Amino acid sequence: MWHKGWRDHIWSAIDQPWDLIIIGGGITGAGVLRQAVTAGLKSLLVEANDFAFGTSSRSSKLIHGGFRYLRNKQFNVTKESVREREWMLREAPNLVAPLSFVLPNFERYHFPSWKLGVGVMIYDLLAPKWDHRKCSLTKLLEACPFLNAGGLVGGFQYYDAVMDDVRLLLRILREAVQAGGVALSYTRAERLLRTSDGQVCGALLRDRLFPDGRTAEVKAKVVVNASGVWSDEVRTQLGQPARLRRLRGSHLVFGRAKLPVNQAVTLFHPRDGRAMFVIPWEGTTIIGTTDIDHDPALDEKYLEPFASEEEISYMMEAVSFLFPSLGLSEKDIVSSFSGLRPVIHTGAATPSKESRAHAVWEENGLITITGGKYTTFRVMSRQTMDRVLARLGKAQTAPRDRIFDPVPDLPTVPLEPSRLAYLAGRHGNETGRFLTAAKQGDLEPIGQLPNVWAELRWAAREEGVEHLDDLLLRRVRLGLLLPNGARDLLGRIRSIVQPELEWTDQRWQQEEASYLQTWQRYYSPKPG
Ligand SMILES: Cc1cc2nc3c(=O)[nH]c(=O)nc-3n(C[C@H](O)[C@H](O)[C@H](O)COP(=O)(O)OP(=O)(O)OC[C@H]3O[C@@H](n4cnc5c(N)ncnc54)[C@H](O)[C@@H]3O)c2cc1C
Repeated sequence: MWHKGWRDHIWSAIDQPWDLIIIGGGITGAGVLRQAVTAGLKSLLVEANDFAFGTSSRSSKLIHGGFRYLRNKQFNVTKESVREREWMLREAPNLVAPLSFVLPNFERYHFPSWKLGVGVMIYDLLAPKWDHRKCSLTKLLEACPFLNAGGLVGGFQYYDAVMDDVRLLLRILREAVQAGGVALSYTRAERLLRTSDGQVCGALLRDRLFPDGRTAEVKAKVVVNASGVWSDEVRTQLGQPARLRRLRGSHLVFGRAKLPVNQAVTLFHPRDGRAMFVIPWEGTTIIGTTDIDHDPALDEKYLEPFASEEEISYMMEAVSFLFPSLGLSEKDIVSSFSGLRPVIHTGAATPSKESRAHAVWEENGLITITGGKYTTFRVMSRQTMDRVLARLGKAQTAPRDRIFDPVPDLPTVPLEPSRLAYLAGRHGNETGRFLTAAKQGDLEPIGQLPNVWAELRWAAREEGVEHLDDLLLRRVRLGLLLPNGARDLLGRIRSIVQPELEWTDQRWQQEEASYLQTWQRYYSPKPG
């Protein structure tokens, strides 16, 4: 779909009146594009970097209600989220998968067991479902063999869901584009255009792939600002005050052999009692996350957020408390990643006390949708569309419950059913074409990971890859999942993707050097 020359093709026809321009190619913008196309609007989404470059590639990968929000009494956020989780599990199986969590209780938490029990019960009732249980010490240690037995007093088991944030977003974006929407990466909305009475009526767009990139003043009846933590930058052009608190959250990735867990664990950090997760993900184990105010001065020096030394020690302290017998050290970290939460500033004393609710603001005709969570993207995009349709004077269309297109019957291929289901979840209605495009050896697994080599070929050919970072950090996440950013595999990766991307040897060398530098600076075990 995003074949060679796709960006030129879009740029050649960009200067035409649109019903809607969406600024931001994260999950929020993708959700709005999907709804807008369904409502019959001629819609253009622009993303300043790669699709999902912002927070939407840096989440904890959970579709969840946020068990910890119950502690902050944010019942509405939890209720909305667990209901969205149940919807996604039904509508996007294999892309969003159920994940069992254990919640061990330790003496040092000073937390009566009955309180945790009430918590998991409310969590289920809000969904509504009934799928939690109390666990004896024996059951807990059976479920999680390396768990700290010292001071362990019992616990609970409950369910949430797991996904790959970029793949979920790409599936929505691609299906929106198949249905007639237009999505353009590496294109920044540099300035809002306004009518003589100050109403927003379009944006000056700049192509960021080239140093003096082409520009166009593009008009639209409505502009939606879905630019995540950058939303204030767009709004302040209208003289509006900043309203976001940018909170950084970081994660560490370990090899599954070093940190073997078959189900997720919810823990309270031994130092400050903050809730954290250990999550089995894509053949690795992730621990996260931190929650701290992000210093804006870092943005002047660095292009991406990264985990600080203090955050790494804080997370190591948590993992060592939970699994002391594994003797984990910083040497065992495979990679790290960090993202910024777009949280609406209410002046809460600590970052973790700020609400994760979303908000829609309308200012001089600009509709901003921000805050919220990945899990609630459908609710956020529906509410945005209600505002868009009202501005256009159109009747509200029936809310579209179905977001994902169904997966058609698949051809018979030499793949285990679980791996085929995994690929079908990611590629949806394109899975048949994906499988047909695979060449000899492409359907072999990549080491111990759930991925196959064919994903690299397909991404290079069909998924709008403009840089090697796009491929290895977002399309197929080898840069996070394998040691040294998958440096040892670059030879085989090159043999597959260089011909697909039609890169010269010189271009490959530049891309490889730039990717390794990005990985070292922002995603390695010692970033910065
Ligand atoms: C550490 C962490 C863990 C999280 N874990 C979870 C979780 O497990 N589950 C969950 O539900 N939620 C989670 N969240 C929250 C969730 O990830 C975010 O709410 C969500 O990804 C925000 O998506 P977005 O589209 O609004 O913003 P983004 O994904 O940041 O997208 C905004 C995009 O706008 C682009 N942009 C900015 N300015 C411009 C411009 N001028 N022109 C064009 N494009 C522009 C940016 O490049 C960016 O890609 C987590 C967040 C963090 C930080």
